[in-house]
Amino acid sequence: MSNQIILPSREMPTKWYNLVSELLPDNPPAPPMNARTNQPAGPEDLIPIFPMGVLEQEMSPERWIDIPEEVLEILSIWRPTPLVRARRLEEYLGTPAKIYYKNESVSPPGSHKPNTAVAQAYYNKREGIKNITTETGAGQWGSALSFACNMFGINCLVYMVKVSYEQKPYRKSLMHVWNGEVIPSPSNTTNSGRRVLEMDPDCPGSLGIAISEAVEAAFADEKTKYSLGSVLNHVMLHQTIIGLESIKQFEQIDDYPDVVIGCVGGGSNMAGFTFPFLGQRMRGEAKKPGIRVVAVEPTACPTLTKGVYAYDFGDQAQMTPAMLMYTLGHDFIPAGIHAGGLRYHGDSPLLSKMVNEKEVEAVAYHQNECYEAAVTFARTEGLLPAPETSHAIRAAIDEALKCKETGETKTIAFNYSGHGHFDLAGYDNYLDGKLVDYAYPEEAIRKSMANLPKITPPSMKK
Ligand SMILES: *Cc1c(COP(=O)(O)O)cnc(C)c1O
Repeated sequence: MSNQIILPSREMPTKWYNLVSELLPDNPPAPPMNARTNQPAGPEDLIPIFPMGVLEQEMSPERWIDIPEEVLEILSIWRPTPLVRARRLEEYLGTPAKIYYKNESVSPPGSHKPNTAVAQAYYNKREGIKNITTETGAGQWGSALSFACNMFGINCLVYMVKVSYEQKPYRKSLMHVWNGEVIPSPSNTTNSGRRVLEMDPDCPGSLGIAISEAVEAAFADEKTKYSLGSVLNHVMLHQTIIGLESIKQFEQIDDYPDVVIGCVGGGSNMAGFTFPFLGQRMRGEAKKPGIRVVAVEPTACPTLTKGVYAYDFGDQAQMTPAMLMYTLGHDFIPAGIHAGGLRYHGDSPLLSKMVNEKEVEAVAYHQNECYEAAVTFARTEGLLPAPETSHAIRAAIDEALKCKETGETKTIAFNYSGHGHFDLAGYDNYLDGKLVDYAYPEEAIRKSMANLPKITPPSMKK
């Protein structure tokens, strides 16, 4: 019997799912705020950097939003993605649980990220935009956006966190192949970059700094917009195609998960995979009403488990509006763990709200235990996971081991967010026993928290 369960391509979802719809009208998400005026951010704060098509989705109350034909056509290069039963892993663990993974690594750039990159490039193209700027950490997002921009004939300019630019040359090559231009950040091409370099010429960079540079470049030119690969509502929305496909696939095999798991950097793959299930639970339509939703993050950047739920900026230079989210502070620079895609100080406001309201559970793991899980996965299932993905695998394995103790036959499902073919240095370090676990960065977090903006949410104003 084949392990692979693949939908015929006709069954690709044609609408995205918006979790915000479940919260209205009684419990709306807190608005982004302009920190200078202490007022909700207006369109004038965002129109210079995002296309209208994307901004409308960012604030949309609708439950279902049509996926444009042009977007579906490109997604169909690799979608629908397989939902796979990890039988060999189950056997190896000796668990009575069933483990499934949704394989998002089959996209051309190798992760879930092009699901939103293609959609964002499309809306920019439709509005006559010629250039898109962005930031990238490990290079996953930069390569996904370069791929998508190339499909629509838009120029892509990527500010890549300097330490990754130097350590991960092959992601850069991939961006170049897809016509992306790559600049190590902090750079001297922007004011925010120059300011950081003046204070610290050897600064290794951070996602927060790279975002400041990319946003500044978009503000500077009318035909240039900015694109974010995670965190914002429209990104979560575009990623829900993952969970919607999974729901159909589980229907086909007459199963349904007891727990759904995803790793979290800014929250998009986790939200994309789990929000459609969470929505079913919130509407009382889940086949298993007690389905649990678990977010997994690194101990070195423990936003959901150790951060505060407060208004903060999305970037280091405070160019973005402030958002209510779990944060470690916008100038927190996390340790150089290999899961570069999980090194972000904040998290999606929508996911943060769900964690704050206990709809979603959050756990944190050290990188060594995640690599151990990744290598176990590679040796049983054959696929080599991205270091980010290994966090979800660790949590899924731990759930399966709990079932082994209790004898429960649960169905566990996690999102396999990407492959690790460009992250082999981390595997070398792990196999050579050279990988270090970072202690919880208490002091750095305390310092950074002191710089949170003072913002009064509208609901608390008289
Ligand atoms: C970027 C990335 C992540 C983290 O980003 P989210 O927005 O939290 O999904 C996770 N896995 C992979 C493979 C990535 O490239």
